[in-house]
Formats: sequence, C-alpha cells, structure tokens
Amino acid sequence: MSIEPGTLYVVATPIGNLEDITRRALEVLAQVDVVLAEDTRHSARLLRAYRIRTPTESLHDHNERRATPALIDRLRAGQTMALVSDAGTPLICDPGYHLVSCARKAGVKTVPVPGPCALTCALSVAGLPSDRFCFEGFLPARRAARQTRLTELTSEPRTLIFYEAPHRAEQCLSDLASAFGSDRFASVARELTKVFEEVVSGTLSELLEWSRSSDDHRKGEFVILVGGAPAAARREELGDGERILRVLLEELPLSKAVRVAARLTGIKRNRLYERAVTLAQPFGSE
Ligand code: SAM
Repeated sequence: MSIEPGTLYVVATPIGNLEDITRRALEVLAQVDVVLAEDTRHSARLLRAYRIRTPTESLHDHNERRATPALIDRLRAGQTMALVSDAGTPLICDPGYHLVSCARKAGVKTVPVPGPCALTCALSVAGLPSDRFCFEGFLPARRAARQTRLTELTSEPRTLIFYEAPHRAEQCLSDLASAFGSDRFASVARELTKVFEEVVSGTLSELLEWSRSSDDHRKGEFVILVGGAPAAARREELGDGERILRVLLEELPLSKAVRVAARLTGIKRNRLYERAVTLAQPFGSE
C-alpha cells in the first residue's frame, strides 16, 4: 500500500496480545514520517516487536492542545503521521480528539486504520444484546457525580458499556447494582486478549459476589457491560405521580420536588427524577 502525503492516519493497536495488529496498520506505521504516541516508551515495544524504525513523538492529554497547531502545519506541508494510543483505538477514552477535529477543520485528510477496541471486543463475547448499545466510557470518580450519571441511565434500553480501573471495579459493580437493581443481567470482561482473560456473566449481585470472592478477580483491565432496562420497567406508568410531580415542579427546585413526590406517591425516586428532568426542560423541548 502507498501512503498519501499530508495525511493523518489514526491507527488501532493491540489491547494486550501483540499479534492483534493488522498488516495495514504495520505498513502504515512503517511508512509514515512520524508516529504520534501517547507514551513513546510503550509504543516503542510494539514497534520493536515488528522491527519498525519510524521516529516517535509524544502526544498525550497534557500536550495535545499545545502541540496541535504545529502538527497541522507539518501535515499541510506534506508530512505523513500515524496517531496511536497505548492500547486499542485512539480517541476511544484516549487522546487524539483535538488533533483529529483540528486536522479535519484545516482540510487535512484523516484516514482510519481499524483494529482492536476493548468495548467491541468485550461486546462480541458478553452474550448481551449487541444490535444497539451505549458506550459510557469511565464513570465519574466522585461518588455524587457517579450516582447522578447512573440515575440518568436507569431506563436506558440499550446494552450499557463501561470502562473501569481495577481498583474501582468492585465499587462500580456495587453502584450498578444499587442503581439498576441487583437482578439486572451483566458481564465483566477482564484482561481481554491477555493471559488471564476472563469473561463472566450473571446478575449484578452474582458478579459482585464473584468480584469479592478472589483478589485476582479485581486485577487487570475491565470492561463492564449491563443489559438494557427491561421493557416492562420502561413502560411503568407514573399514574397520578405525573400530575403531582408537575405541580411540585412549579413550586420547588427539581431535587426537592422529586423527594416530596416520592414520599407522597411511593414511586421510586430515580424514576421520578428521570421524568422530572424531562419535564423541567425548556418549553417545547419535550
Ligand atoms: N483506546 C482503548 C480502546 O480502544 O479500548 C481504551 C483506552 S482506556 C484509557 C483504557 C480502558 O480500556 C481500561 O481501563 C479498560 O477499561 C479498557 N481496556 C483496555 N484494554 C483492555 C483489556 N485488554 N481488557 C479489558 N479492558 C480493557
């Protein structure tokens, strides 16, 4: 294959097993003028394994904005570049968004070189509906923000996919069980394509038990997938609760209105909250 001058190639690399790289990715990495890497030492291992000697430059969250204008100038002058991250597909919870969006605005050609991505890898074996899904990336680290995000997702009908750091995996499963109910079906995909690869499925309470049953179950990299909300739960009508909530929202701030409505009606707070957020949107947006 031939490399086009002035092009930014966005190249997916392995998420564990170094053999998971396409021939096209290797050719691009070998032929471009420079490889932009999240961590040059990390990417050097991959390049060494395939005897690729292309020079690397670092492009990470902390220098991307600063480095982008000069990189765009070099691309416009005809240089070829490959953007890679430490693992998987760049821009998927990894750097590159700013560079790619600026490159496109500047008329620089951007070419994807597809390959591994932890979310699609996990989804392909989780046994959860894969026709429609919703990728949520990492949940916020702060508890209150995490709970707000999960409350917003309780009625999401599509399969939900989360990335999680090992030290938070157990807490994440516990939070998911509290938000979605411990009976919701889910899967945990750990260390995909690596020696200790493991994919476990069950209800959220079963997965939480599994996570607590061995220190090994909390090690490595995780993708957590949760089945979408069942249709019955989504159809659950608020009945009189809707009218009560509407009246309260006219008089009280949203969270207070939800609290009072929950006490008056016995309807779950997160169900009311979700409806209240829709009702509270500016007129005409519902
Ligand atoms: N760009 C990557 C991709 O395409 O999937 C994701 C990068 S993000 C910074 C890293 C997160 O991806 C990890 O915390 C984990 O949630 C997930 N991940 C990456 N490699 C994985 C693997 N081998 N097994 C399970 N999850 C993985």
